Amino acid sequence: MNQYKVVLLKGDGIGSEIVEQAVNVLETAGELYGFSIEFQEELLGGSAIDAVGTPLPQKTIDACKAADSTLLGAVGGPKWDGLSGDKRPEKGLLGIREALGLFANLRPAVIFPELREASPLRADIIGEKLDIMVVRELTGGIYFGERGRTAENGQEAAYDTEKYSVGEVERIARVAFEMARKRGKRLCSVDKANVLESSRLWRATVARIGQQEYPDVEITNMYVDNCAMQLVRNPGQFDVIVTSNIFGDILSDEASMISGSIGMLASASLGSGKAGLFEPIHGSAPDIAGTGKANPLATILSGAMMLKYSLDQPEAAAAIEAAVSKVLQTARTADIYTEGMQGVRKVSCSEMGQLVCDALKASR
Ligand code: NAD
Repeated sequence: MNQYKVVLLKGDGIGSEIVEQAVNVLETAGELYGFSIEFQEELLGGSAIDAVGTPLPQKTIDACKAADSTLLGAVGGPKWDGLSGDKRPEKGLLGIREALGLFANLRPAVIFPELREASPLRADIIGEKLDIMVVRELTGGIYFGERGRTAENGQEAAYDTEKYSVGEVERIARVAFEMARKRGKRLCSVDKANVLESSRLWRATVARIGQQEYPDVEITNMYVDNCAMQLVRNPGQFDVIVTSNIFGDILSDEASMISGSIGMLASASLGSGKAGLFEPIHGSAPDIAGTGKANPLATILSGAMMLKYSLDQPEAAAAIEAAVSKVLQTARTADIYTEGMQGVRKVSCSEMGQLVCDALKASR
């Protein structure tokens, strides 16, 4: 029997509620598909600041490096908003991605047929199906570039720097081309090459890697402002999108809204090896923490991505996705529930987790 070691970083806010449900689902999948996972909890974010004074303890980094993979809830909250940049919970998140060398963030934006009506887009715009993969560069660009405060003409000023090396662009481009090759063989590289020098280097590098290594994949280029517009005008035109850290951050949130709810979207952060960091794209939702209203499906689907990309259990991953689809036919958490829905009831975070486990068992 395959045995895996997975670190759990529950984080803050709704983190512990949603991770708990994902663990239940992964354990059920293990029983049904013949593998077992040993979970180890470590601290990250605000809870780590409270316990040991830093958002990213060395012990957390060491545990993640030694594990087969890591499942994260979310970090941050108003309690820590007053802290300075380096001490904020989000610093832990950026830091762990960097420490593990996770340079590629995969964010699928998929519309479950059951949630079609939850999308703010008209049915004719969504079309038959929506299945976009946003590949976001994760450890470079403006979030990691030089920043600071200065004075200009007697006024306080601040700056952040967007910088990419050829090597950084090459490795993210290869992840995106590989992904496109396994899907619809279409890659759209998104930049701001009409203004930014770093984008011009990005565009030329993606084009070269495509020509030299992936002649079977069709490449298009799009400016980020146009892409933001096209995502709501004609989302079906996209297969795989590859873009920088900051543009990917914004576009993947937009893509998430198209698909109905931020509580539904999973993500994977990968490096050069098999281990990765899997997490929902939403934050710690402090406004609903502790109320039982959180939607655990994005975290459960992140667990499914972990089974697929890190732990070589694609069958169990597909079964979890199918179970989620089945449960959505009759049960919804508050964020995806509309009053008066026929045959659908409103459920809590833990009920939703239990229903997915039940559907998984029923499918085997
Ligand atoms: P958020 O994603 O936490 O919440 C935005 C809105 O979506 C809220 O109304 C929230 O209730 C709702 N929501 C989010 N996840 C949900 C879920 N699973 N089920 C139901 N509803 C859900 O974003 P925010 O309010 O801008 O940020 C709150 C905190 O989270 C901040 O401290 C922020 O820095 C942090 N944050 C963390 C991450 C992360 O850990 N990856 C990502 C984004 C924001």
